[in-house]
Amino acid sequence: MLSVDMAIKALKEKKIRLTPQRLELINILSQENKHWTVEELYHILNERMPSVSITTIYNNINLFCELEIVKEIQFGESLSKYEWKKKDHYHIVCKLCGEMVDVWYPTLKEVETVAESISKFQIRSHNLQFYGVCSQCAEQ
Ligand SMILES: [Zn+2]
Ligand SMILES: [Zn+2]
Repeated sequence: MLSVDMAIKALKEKKIRLTPQRLELINILSQENKHWTVEELYHILNERMPSVSITTIYNNINLFCELEIVKEIQFGESLSKYEWKKKDHYHIVCKLCGEMVDVWYPTLKEVETVAESISKFQIRSHNLQFYGVCSQCAEQ
């Protein structure tokens, strides 16, 4: 997993200033093994730094994605969650509450190879997500 020091180094290399908001965001994202919406990050950061705006969070999250210290996971209609950069993995999403859990399984390279030979495309990536009901929602 990416360290905070490496993330800060990535910012410095691109001559991007490490503002207090950026540092706090990096701390939140790196400490908790979670998949966040921008709104969730905003609520946490806003408690610690009331002056921060949701636009700032959006901009910084997009910046972090460009720097590849944060990864965007798209699910549903134009809904995205963000997580601290880790090894490639898949996700299970709860249909009821939206909870997202990591699934560690080797990248399905052989599926890409098959898709490539069928389509004659050069496959660059693929997207696989599982949907179900989490244990908490199943209890209710
Ligand atoms: Zn659930
Ligand atoms: Zn994940």
